[in-house]
Amino acid sequence: MTTNLLDFDLDGMAAFCERLGEKRFRATQLFRWVHQRGASSFDQMSDLAKSLREKLKGCAHVTGLPVISEHVSADGTIKWLFDVGGGNAVETVFIPEDDRGTLCISSQAGCAVGCRFCSTGHQGFSRNLTTGEIIAQLWYAEHALRQRQRQGHGERVISNVVMMGMGEPLQNYSALVPALRIMLDDHGYGLSRRRVTVSTSGVVPMMDRLAQDCPVALAVSLHASNDALRDSLVPLNRKYPLEELLAACRRYLDHAPRDFITFEYCMLDGVNDQPEHAAQLIALVDPKTAPGVSCKFNLIPFNPFPASGLRRSSAARVSAFAKILSDAGIVTTVRKTRGDDIDAACGQLAGDVKDRTKVSERMAKLRTIELKPIT
Ligand code: SAH
Ligand code: SF4
Repeated sequence: MTTNLLDFDLDGMAAFCERLGEKRFRATQLFRWVHQRGASSFDQMSDLAKSLREKLKGCAHVTGLPVISEHVSADGTIKWLFDVGGGNAVETVFIPEDDRGTLCISSQAGCAVGCRFCSTGHQGFSRNLTTGEIIAQLWYAEHALRQRQRQGHGERVISNVVMMGMGEPLQNYSALVPALRIMLDDHGYGLSRRRVTVSTSGVVPMMDRLAQDCPVALAVSLHASNDALRDSLVPLNRKYPLEELLAACRRYLDHAPRDFITFEYCMLDGVNDQPEHAAQLIALVDPKTAPGVSCKFNLIPFNPFPASGLRRSSAARVSAFAKILSDAGIVTTVRKTRGDDIDAACGQLAGDVKDRTKVSERMAKLRTIELKPIT
């Protein structure tokens, strides 16, 4: 079996080259061809000696994930469904905005956490993605979009990455960290650590490890203002309750002092959207009443799906809630829903191909565009 070079961060690539008897600068060249140029064929890599190219052909390959479908929303959001084998698929979403292009990446097929309001969670867990499968989503999207927009090789289309697709990234830690390093590497995608966000439902020990290994921006899916409520919405809370979670947030910020935690809060009608919930949140994070956490809140209008039995809070309720937090001095934003017409919104990423009929029925109704191959 040959090795997929998408699995390696730069150190991994250097170790691989060393095993082939090649110097580290060859690893850098290879890495740049793969990630900066989107090359998948060794013949393209014109500044590598022919003998090395032949050697590589015998023991390595650069292989992305097969694309099952691509859908473009009226607002420009693009959703790809990638085949990860064994009847599983994962979804990746590109969200273009005036000043940035954000790619939302999946880390697992399904998710074991099982949050009540999340359709990925309702699917159950299939498996962890490899580093190569995580990075393949960025590799594919960046180069497909560049080609389409006829950008030069130096011009990036994707300026931000958020690990907010399917799966709990901190329950796939060993594959996640090399993938993050590839995103940050100047020879890879060159994203600054503040433009790469890991979103977690609160895997406390792994938050501590991430702070040491790769302190990117951290989003914490809070969704509740007390333990009883959070236990029922985010089952992981029974293992790592709010007090421990908030202490882990503070420790994280010790490693990244000028940063803040983004608390995500999915607004569920009559469940967590009352004024008393907002008051409890303030008490949790406000330095005047508790040790405090430097943070901002991102209120997410719930994206309903039938099996959840939950409803989205009204717009008036969301803005009233946002006002209580803002009046207490907490920066609060309300997430715009994007890609609603292609089910690309948060928590709707249900790429399980056991459900393929349903997915394809849904998708058949939508505009599909031709994919150009990556050269
Ligand atoms: N597992 C990680 C990252 C993936 S989920 C996490 O939970 O943080 C990304 C975000 O989408 C999380 O904040 C999650 O709570 C939110 N989300 C999940 N289902 C949703 C839904 N149906 N409507 C709105 N947001 C949802
Ligand atoms: Fe998993 Fe995140 Fe969905 Fe919870 S919200 S089930 S942690 S993907």
